[in-house]
Amino acid sequence: MKRRELIKNLSVLPIAGAAIGASLPMESLFAAPSAAPAPKRNFFEELGVTPKINAGGTMTFLSGSLMLPEVLEAIHSTAHDFANMYELQDKAGAKIAEMLNCEAAMVTSGAAGALVLGTAAALTGNDAEKMKQLPNLPGPQREVIIQKSHRYVFDQAVRNTGIKFVEVEGPEQMENAINENTVMALFFNGAISWFGVPDSITHEEFVAIAKKHNIPTFIDAAADVPPVENLFKFQKMGFDMITFSGGKMIMGPQSAGLLFGRKDLIEAAKLNNSPHECPISRPMKVNKEEIFGMYAALKSYLERDHDAEWQEWLDRIKRISKILEKLPTVKCETIINPGPANAFPTMKVSWDKTKIVINPKEVTKALDEGTPSIIAGGGEDALSVGVVLLQPKQVDIVANRIKEILEENIS
Ligand SMILES: *Cc1c(COP(=O)(O)O)cnc(C)c1O
Repeated sequence: MKRRELIKNLSVLPIAGAAIGASLPMESLFAAPSAAPAPKRNFFEELGVTPKINAGGTMTFLSGSLMLPEVLEAIHSTAHDFANMYELQDKAGAKIAEMLNCEAAMVTSGAAGALVLGTAAALTGNDAEKMKQLPNLPGPQREVIIQKSHRYVFDQAVRNTGIKFVEVEGPEQMENAINENTVMALFFNGAISWFGVPDSITHEEFVAIAKKHNIPTFIDAAADVPPVENLFKFQKMGFDMITFSGGKMIMGPQSAGLLFGRKDLIEAAKLNNSPHECPISRPMKVNKEEIFGMYAALKSYLERDHDAEWQEWLDRIKRISKILEKLPTVKCETIINPGPANAFPTMKVSWDKTKIVINPKEVTKALDEGTPSIIAGGGEDALSVGVVLLQPKQVDIVANRIKEILEENIS
């Protein structure tokens, strides 16, 4: 399923229980653009690019998420001096590892970049000759074990290194599939969210089998915060490498991400990376400012009041519902996506289509084409409105635009 469709269909479970917590003003959390000085120059206008209000989710085609003020501060304040990139990656990585209670960490070009680097590390270790040879290592093609239901679009990042996947179902097949060409075992944590198919091998079984045979494990949890606990969960379980996106709910630079876990593997990943000239990840460079920015984003995310943030999202939904439910037959529901991918509240808006004669897809089209342009999701039955990426002042704008479009179509 494409991410766009995924977001459109984002979850179907009704609200299970609202998080408790005081309703606090969360301006500082969401105030990225309003905290910046008024721009002297309008680059959107200069290039004729339409700015979008994101009432969907963190999607790469929509530029991920908005960087927080503290991330922009890290970017701006470090732009005027040079740094030795080896030193910066080492020191940022050490700090991040300390924050995440793991042996080692590094900043990568997104989770997709981390998938390339982690696999490269498993393939080469510290062997400089092999680093030069990737993706065409001499000898038999190396293998990465993956559950059949975990194959997904991002696995091409892993295949970039020249490996082939061996698909397995259940612990017994996994055990039997391991041989002298096996270099890694990959677990897609969000598979259940994307495909609705339960894992045939649990996390614990997966790690235990791989460990028994001395095969490094890698878990892709790119979109799997909130909850914040997930940033600590998989190293505790024993996974050797873990990745999260920077440009999703951690709200760092869209082109950055985290790779962390076992020290020897992270060190090997660094050797396969820029600023070295030859290796496979040299084209996946992350600049100095983004490394500082990713560190600042993670720090901010870990220090945030997550209950208050959750409550703020629920309050936004309530606020939009109150405006929309003034219209005849309109019904608003809070949906809590069970995760692990994109596990946050969103809302579903439906109406009697004989009374308001427009379907959700037409509403999303009108929202996108209107001014301001708003991106929301529309299935067959209901409109899906995301609230977690809205700036505070956009909550009413989105509610009123939807109301306007529906109102025009009352029969
Ligand atoms: C978004 C995503 C990626 C890619 O992450 P980037 O940081 O954009 O490179 C990889 N895997 C999963 C499961 C994702 O959701």
